[in-house]
Amino acid sequence: MQKVGFIGWRGMVGSVLLERMRRENDFQGFSPIFFTTSQQGQPGPDVGGGALPLRDARNLQDLADMDILVSCQGGDYTKDIHPKLRSAAWRGLWIDAASALRMNGESTIVLDPVNRPAIDRALDAGCVDFIGGNCTVSLMLIALQGLFEADLVEWVTSMTYQSASGAGAKNMKELIAQMADLGDAGRALAADPAGEVLELDRIIGAKLRDGSLPTAEFGVPLAASLIPWIDSALPCGRTREEWKGMVETNKILGRDKQIPVDGQCVRVGAMRCHSQALTVKLNRDIPLAEIESLLDQANDWVKFVPNEKEATLQKLTPAAVGGTLTIPVGRVRKMALGQQYLTAFTVGDQLLWGAAEPVRRMLLIALGRL
Ligand code: NAP
Repeated sequence: MQKVGFIGWRGMVGSVLLERMRRENDFQGFSPIFFTTSQQGQPGPDVGGGALPLRDARNLQDLADMDILVSCQGGDYTKDIHPKLRSAAWRGLWIDAASALRMNGESTIVLDPVNRPAIDRALDAGCVDFIGGNCTVSLMLIALQGLFEADLVEWVTSMTYQSASGAGAKNMKELIAQMADLGDAGRALAADPAGEVLELDRIIGAKLRDGSLPTAEFGVPLAASLIPWIDSALPCGRTREEWKGMVETNKILGRDKQIPVDGQCVRVGAMRCHSQALTVKLNRDIPLAEIESLLDQANDWVKFVPNEKEATLQKLTPAAVGGTLTIPVGRVRKMALGQQYLTAFTVGDQLLWGAAEPVRRMLLIALGRL
């Protein structure tokens, strides 16, 4: 029976992965072994065979005893451990949620609804590194798969509205703490029907600027505000998050001729769904009804939402989508810029299709179960 080691299962992405695998009854037909960087010897999760002691995630011998390693531990861990295992001639499969190895020539970025043939080719060719993609990229590709497959896309801009969860668990807590403080400051006036709205705005504005909100993680308030910067700066003026849009999209699509993808990535006060306002330059003018049908039928998770107010409010918001695998795409119309310019809006759970689900499905593919 194949041995599969899990590292980072306790973190945010790792816990969503475990939750999904439990729900789908995935823990069968292989031997799961759980590792930790900080809790060696403590009981691991019980996924059916009892809670076994956690193993040391820095013990190379224990790791190399695994046929497959699944890491949701983070890029620093990957950069430290992966080269050591490979230089010790370990040829097991490394499946990772971190970005560290994504753009390596020998890695495959996994998003099987979109690039299953590339994954199968890589496995057949003996490739051993399979890495989950950037969350906005994976969500955008599932949303627009119908257009990419029909080779209709000349370029895309994606203006993102990214949730707190993309920055980590502490950031989600900080967002809620900021909301709570703002709520406390404005509660009395907000509840009073006769309350002066300008006074309410003055109180909230003062609270946002007086330095009293918790901002250790984001650096500035996110609640009642937004942050138009995600990740580090690159010399080209893009942030690293914006840079990933083009390089990862094209790597996943495996295209010789690169499709330009660019835009601005913005953090907003959503909990775990990333949203994106897309502009697509089509390389030919085709009827809107055909576009809608291509979008809707591309895979099992994308759902076309008619460009109507009620459907949009009910189906195309982080509040409606969070915790689900559905990726709605709506607000689809031709733009005033010309018949080949399409706009669309999409929302997706960045911890599911954006992080844990491609990793989970890659494990099932590796085990021959998908
Ligand atoms: P995380 O929540 O910070 O967890 C990482 C590790 O921190 C855990 O596995 C755990 O390792 C340790 N840890 C320390 N204190 C903890 C606590 N109180 N609760 C839980 N874990 C604790 O990391 P993450 O956000 O899941 O991200 C993991 C990787 O996935 C990163 O490379 C990230 O870039 C990538 N990724 C993240 C997202 C996202 O949306 N967050 C999306 C795509 C990819 P030990 O058990 O070894 O101590």
